Amino acid sequence: MAGLRFQAVLEAQRRPKVKVNFPSEKVSDYFGKKSFGMRQMKERLPNEVYQRVVTAMEKGKGISMETADSVASAAKNWAMELGATSYTHWFQPLTGATAEKHDSFFDSISGIEKFKGSTLVQQEPDASSFPSGGIRSTFEARGYTAWDPSSPMFIIGTTLCIPTIFVSYTGEALDNKAPLLKAVEAVDRAATVTCKFFDRNVSKVTAFLGVEQEYFVVDKALYSARPDLVMSGRTVFGHNPARGQQLDDHYFGSIPPRVYDFMRDFEIEALKLGIPVSTRHNEVAPSQFEVAPTFEELNLATDHNSLLKDVMSKVAEKHNLKVLFHEKPFAGMNGNGKHNNWSLITNTGVNLFQPSSSARDNLQFLVFFVNTLKAVHEHSDLLRASIASAGNDFRLGANEAPPAIISTFIGQQLSMVLDELESKGNVHIEKGDNMYMKLGIDQIPEILIDNTDRNRTSPFAFTGNKWEFRAVGSDANVAQPMTALNLAMADQLTKFNEELEKRISKGEEKRISIVKILRKYIKESKPSRFEGDGYSDKWVKDAEKRGLSNVKDTPRALDAYLTKETVALFGRHGVCNDKELEARHDIMLENYVRKVQIESRVMGDLALNHIIPTAIAYQNKLIHNAQGLKDLGMKNTAVTKAIEEISGHINTLKVGVREMIDERRKVNKIDNMRDLAIAYCDKVKGKHFDKIRYAADKLELLVDDEDWPLVKYRELLFIR
Ligand code: ADP
Ligand code: MG
Repeated sequence: MAGLRFQAVLEAQRRPKVKVNFPSEKVSDYFGKKSFGMRQMKERLPNEVYQRVVTAMEKGKGISMETADSVASAAKNWAMELGATSYTHWFQPLTGATAEKHDSFFDSISGIEKFKGSTLVQQEPDASSFPSGGIRSTFEARGYTAWDPSSPMFIIGTTLCIPTIFVSYTGEALDNKAPLLKAVEAVDRAATVTCKFFDRNVSKVTAFLGVEQEYFVVDKALYSARPDLVMSGRTVFGHNPARGQQLDDHYFGSIPPRVYDFMRDFEIEALKLGIPVSTRHNEVAPSQFEVAPTFEELNLATDHNSLLKDVMSKVAEKHNLKVLFHEKPFAGMNGNGKHNNWSLITNTGVNLFQPSSSARDNLQFLVFFVNTLKAVHEHSDLLRASIASAGNDFRLGANEAPPAIISTFIGQQLSMVLDELESKGNVHIEKGDNMYMKLGIDQIPEILIDNTDRNRTSPFAFTGNKWEFRAVGSDANVAQPMTALNLAMADQLTKFNEELEKRISKGEEKRISIVKILRKYIKESKPSRFEGDGYSDKWVKDAEKRGLSNVKDTPRALDAYLTKETVALFGRHGVCNDKELEARHDIMLENYVRKVQIESRVMGDLALNHIIPTAIAYQNKLIHNAQGLKDLGMKNTAVTKAIEEISGHINTLKVGVREMIDERRKVNKIDNMRDLAIAYCDKVKGKHFDKIRYAADKLELLVDDEDWPLVKYRELLFIR
C-alpha cells in the first residue's frame, strides 16, 4: 500500500519546470483585458447609454431594457473578439462556491450569434441543485439570477461571465450577494447622514475591502494520494513533521521556485480579469502563502475574492499543484485565515477611518471609529455567527488563531485618546475649538505609531486607517461577514444619527452633543476592547468575566442568526426577512453536517482500510521477530513492548471507529437540523475525532516508514 505513496513522492520530486508566459512586460498592457469594466464600456457604448449605466451603478437604480440591450450587444461583441462563444450568469449560492450555467451565443434559429438585453438582465438557472433552506419548496419551484451591473462581466476560457444575484421567484435571496448589496446600501445611507453633520457635500459613502487570502500549496500527486485531502480539504490524520514551524524561517522567507512560478502565473490571469493582485509572501507555516489584492469597492472585492480562488485552483493544475483553502489543512500548523480589511470612504475622497492633522476632522474620525467599536460590541454574536463554519471551528480557539471571542484592538495611542475622552466626562466644555484640546482629541496623530505594532491575535483590529476583521475563514465567501459588519455599522450609525438629531433639535451644541454620545459609547463598548494576547488562556477567563460570548462551535454560533434582535436588525434595514434568515440558518447547518459527516467517513475509511491493515502487517513482522529472538534464546522485551503498544493503538482505532459509526447511525435519525448539527458536533466529532486521530498518529510513528500508506506531513509540506 505504501507503493502509491512512494510513487507520488517520486512524481512530485521529478516535476519538470512549467513555463510562465508573460503576455507583455508591462502589466498595464494586459490589466483588465478580460474584464468588461468601465473603460471598456466607455469605449464601446454610445455616450448616453454609458452615462445611464454609470448613474444606475452609482445610485443603485434599475436599468431600462433598451440600455440593457445596448450593453448586451457591446459585451457580446467585445467577448467574441476575445474568443468567447458562450455566456453564463455567475452567482454565489449558499454552498460557498460559485456557480454557472453556460449558454451559447449562437442562436440556431437565426443562424447568428445573439445576446439580448433580456438574457443579460435575467436568467433561470436550474435552481433545484442549489440549497434554499426550504424556501423554494415552500414558495416557488424556481429562482432566477439577475445581473449586478456594479460588478464587471469577465471572460473565463471561452465564456463571458455575468455577475448576478440569485433570488427565488417570490423574491427571497438565495445567494450571498443579494444581502451584501443591501447591507452596503444600508451603510451608505446611514454613514452619509452622519457625514452631513460635518460636511454637506458628502452624498455617498462607499465601503471598501481588501482581502488577504492565505493558502497552502501542495504537489498534486501527493494531494491525490491523500483521500482525506481530496474528500474533505484537510488531513484528518498525520503526525507533525520533525521540522515544523519551530524554526520560523519560513515567514517572509524565499518562495520556492515552483510555487513562485505558480504565483506569477495566477497573478497574470488575475490581472487580466482586473483583479489588482499586489503582494505575495510566505506565511507562518511551511508551504503556506498569502495573496492580497489592493482594496476595492466591497461588492467587487467580494466577487474578486471568489474569482481569485477559482483562478488559483485552475492555474495550479497547470503547475501540478493543488491549492488548499481549508481553514486547517494540517493539525499543529498555522491555519488559513482571510483578513478582511475594511474602510468607509466618502465621495469627496475622505477615508472616514483616517485620523487627520486637524482636530476638527478628528471629531468625525472619532465618530466613525467609536461607532465601529460600539457596532462590533453590540453585534458580536452576529459577527461570530457570520464567520462560523466547520473548517473555521478548527482554527478559532486553536492555540495559534484568534479565539471565538469577538474583541477589538485599537492600539495604545487611540486607547489613550478614548480613555481621556471618557475620563474627562466632567470637564466643562465650552464652545470653541479648545474643547478639542481639553478632551485630548487634538492629540490624535495623523499617522499612528500602532500601525506597525499590530496585535496579530485580535479578531478585529484597527490598523491605522482601516479595520481588519481577521477571524474570517480562508474558505469562506466574505459576503457573509461583510454583510454582518456593514449592517451592524449601518444600524449603529442610524442610532447615533437619531440621538444626535434629537439633542441638536433640543438646542444643544452639535459638537458637545457628539462628544457626549461618544463618551457613552466608549463606556458601553469597553468590555470588548482588548489589547493583550488573544491566544492566551487568561483572556478566555477574563473575557468571561467581562460578559463576552465565547461560542466555540458552528451549530451554536449560528443561533445568533435567528435571535429576535438579529431578525429585527436585518428587517429594519431591508437586508433579509425572517424567512430568508431561517433558510440561511438551515443551509449553514446542513453544510456543517455534511462536512463533519464526510470527515467522519474519511476517517473511518482511512483507519479501517489503510492504517489498521498496515499496522497489523507490521505487527506480524514484529511478532515473527520476537519469536525468532526467543528461539535464539535472546531477550526480546523491546520488540514485545512495541507489539503491545501497536496492538493498543490498533484496538483504540478499531473500537473508536466502530463507536463513531454507531453514533452516526444514531444521530442520523434526528430530524431537526439544529439538533442534528449539534449531535454531529458533540457526539460524532467531539467524542471521537481526537481519540481516533491520536491512535492513528501514534501508529504513524511506530510503523516502519517503508510500510506507511499515507503521504506524510513532511512530504506534503516540504517537497516542492
Ligand atoms: P498586512 O499583511 O500588513 O495586514 P497587506 O498589505 O498584506 O497588510 O494587506 C493589507 C490589505 O489591506 C490590502 O489588501 C490593502 O489593499 C488593504 N487596504 C489598505 N488600505 C485599505 C483601506 N483604506 N480600506 C480597505 N482596505 C485597505
Ligand atoms: Mg493583515
